[in-house]
Amino acid sequence: MVKCAKLLGLDIFRQIRNPRVHIVVCIKQTPDSAAEMVVENGIVSWGDTPMVVNPWDEYALEEAIRTKEKYGGHVTAIVMGRKSAGEALKTAIAMGCDSGVMLCDEDFFRCDARGTARILARAIEKLGDVELAFFGKQAIDGDSGLVPLSVAFVLGWTPLSYVCEVYEIDLHEARISVARLLEEGRQNCLATLPAVVSVVKEINEPRYPSFIGIRKASKVEIPVWDLAELGLDDSEIKTCDSAVIWSQIQSLAKSSREVEMIEGDSVEAIVTELTDRLMDDMVI
Ligand SMILES: Cc1cc2nc3c(=O)[nH]c(=O)nc-3n(C[C@H](O)[C@H](O)[C@H](O)COP(=O)(O)OP(=O)(O)OC[C@H]3O[C@@H](n4cnc5c(N)ncnc54)[C@H](O)[C@@H]3O)c2cc1C
Repeated sequence: MVKCAKLLGLDIFRQIRNPRVHIVVCIKQTPDSAAEMVVENGIVSWGDTPMVVNPWDEYALEEAIRTKEKYGGHVTAIVMGRKSAGEALKTAIAMGCDSGVMLCDEDFFRCDARGTARILARAIEKLGDVELAFFGKQAIDGDSGLVPLSVAFVLGWTPLSYVCEVYEIDLHEARISVARLLEEGRQNCLATLPAVVSVVKEINEPRYPSFIGIRKASKVEIPVWDLAELGLDDSEIKTCDSAVIWSQIQSLAKSSREVEMIEGDSVEAIVTELTDRLMDDMVI
């Protein structure tokens, strides 16, 4: 039977050793990276460009789903944002997550990264039995990269950032071993669970949503948790949005550049002309 299971790609021993892993993956909905941002009177807009799952979070989604496929368990995707951000959860479920939770309340929109982290941490606590929370390394709009480690801090969990490979998870020993990608190379870490893991793009190749997944996602009920549902009181949110305030947002001045094509009868002639010009302009 074990041979049969192995042929089917199921590692029974591994799954018995880790009977149930509840994995969370936190994803943000952001404008598409190709969107042209416009700032008018301090308000940022991006026209009709569709909102997407933050590109870095696709790697977190893929890793959460692969972890479930390897060890068994359940993956819950969490999004904090406006109601329309529920679309990101549908994508997550279509890719292979089991369920989604939407965190939405007018009071959430005033939050900085620390406030966002408190709200996400409370949602993870409310889910109850979570051992592992995956995050992207940063959001392409807010760009602070602060949320994952702040969530780990609030929960008192092990923070593991820039993870490029998860080697092994052992629920009985409450251990996880990973590699972190640093400028200098890879750093192998053995850490205790529960843990927050933020991932880099080198970790995997995200899958596309499957046809069956898209059908499942279209039918799934997504609970919406607001301030009251999370058991947060208004004063907690008020104190958490005061640390960093975006006092002004500006577009960068557009730089104008001229392009001149150098032509010639041969590659040598073009290169000679180019180097002469660069030397005249004292570039080289
Ligand atoms: C109108 C408006 C006003 C704002 N004003 C301020 C302000 O005054 N001060 C300020 O500091 N910020 C402000 N923000 C930014 C906003 O609160 C940040 O987007 C938020 O704090 C998350 O930080 P980040 O985008 O830098 O995420 P990062 O820390 O870069 O994200 C890292 C990872 O955390 C997870 N994550 C991040 N956000 C979410 C989310 N919403 N749901 C689920 N997972 C998530 C994802 O996995 C992501 O890859 C404002 C945003 C808006 C839209």
